[in-house]
Amino acid sequence: MPSKDSLLPSSPISIDQAVQSASAELTAFLQTLVRTPSLPDHEGAAQKLVADKFRALGLEVEIVPTLFSELRDHPAFGDDGFSPDGRVNVIGCWRGTGSAPGHSLILNGHVDVVPPGDMALWSDSPWSGLVREGRLYGRGACDMKAGLCAAIFAVDVLQRTGFKPAADVLIESVTGEESGGVGTLATLLKGYTAEAAILLEPTCLDICPVQSGALTFRLTVPGRSAHAAMKPEGVSAVEKFALLLQAINALEKERCLAFQHPLYSPGQNIAPISIGTVRAGEWHSTVPDELIAEGRLGVLPGETVDAARRALQTALERASAEDHWLASHPPRLEWFEGQFESAETVSSHPLIASLGAAHRLVTGEAALLRGVTYGSDMRLFVNHAGIPSTHYGPGDVRLAHSANESVPLAEVLTATRVIAHMLTQWCAAGS
Ligand SMILES: [Zn+2]
Repeated sequence: MPSKDSLLPSSPISIDQAVQSASAELTAFLQTLVRTPSLPDHEGAAQKLVADKFRALGLEVEIVPTLFSELRDHPAFGDDGFSPDGRVNVIGCWRGTGSAPGHSLILNGHVDVVPPGDMALWSDSPWSGLVREGRLYGRGACDMKAGLCAAIFAVDVLQRTGFKPAADVLIESVTGEESGGVGTLATLLKGYTAEAAILLEPTCLDICPVQSGALTFRLTVPGRSAHAAMKPEGVSAVEKFALLLQAINALEKERCLAFQHPLYSPGQNIAPISIGTVRAGEWHSTVPDELIAEGRLGVLPGETVDAARRALQTALERASAEDHWLASHPPRLEWFEGQFESAETVSSHPLIASLGAAHRLVTGEAALLRGVTYGSDMRLFVNHAGIPSTHYGPGDVRLAHSANESVPLAEVLTATRVIAHMLTQWCAAGS
């Protein structure tokens, strides 16, 4: 195995030395980003910071607005309800010399963050950017401003070593990921593409090239109202929903047990069917004549959206056929808002091998290869643009979206080193 420094024989400094000398700057930039709230529809200030950093690095900077009028007809478009005005995506292109066609790479990160939730649960302000015992705290620190910083500083440190890519490297700082992916979709429809993409979502530096999907649904269950004292003359929509819920839970279990994939643990519930809200009735002493439940149906890797929808529809029809009331008053199933497909890049793809080799070079250990159970913009790259992609980034997704969200700074630096090393291989001439 070549030593780390032999990758760049004529470099004035090695990648590791460059990361070390850039580490304080990286931490300060991440702090500034975290201290700049970027809730959906309010990402402008954070995007300006990113654009300024791109310019400081001498990258070609492109601003891609998220215009619903241009996205609306796309099958992957989901109207997230936020104003498209002023929401921009920032792309920094480190132009390659052109001597390695077929080896361009996208490094994608979203700058939008979810709301902080109950402020009382936070030890400090969600926008503190505090560093304590090697961790940087704040909303978005882990999901996923740290990953975005790792991508930016991978380019920064490579410039310090004197490396020049033979193929283009595109860093994409997008908006709207948390609410459906309109930002990345806008960049793809504008024609920004590459041979492969890495989404720097928090994976604890595991390589995660497969994800299950999620479909939001609404279930309307009819009943018949009556005075509660005359309950036998009514039909409780709540009790009919209880029958349907049993069928939903049985379906979830059946799908989970039947699914097998080498990147998921056997029996792991990777595509849950979860009811999130239930509304029924207007008065405690009235038999409720309608119940509306909303939930999320997981889509298995390799399964189409239509097949997943059919599975739930069929389970509800079967359960309804066995009940006298529901047989003649069937529940209504609708699909709305987020409709995220599953996605997968095969583990044998050169992208996975190249990233895995860089991870091993930097950490001395093989990266864990695994699937994730959440949706992300990866599905847009893989399913709608034909760009092989994987998740790989610092931080633990279990801390994302929670109070006291944080990321270990050592992991951010490791990610920076890994991405930098990978770029020297992937985007090099003759690779
Ligand atoms: Zn994320």
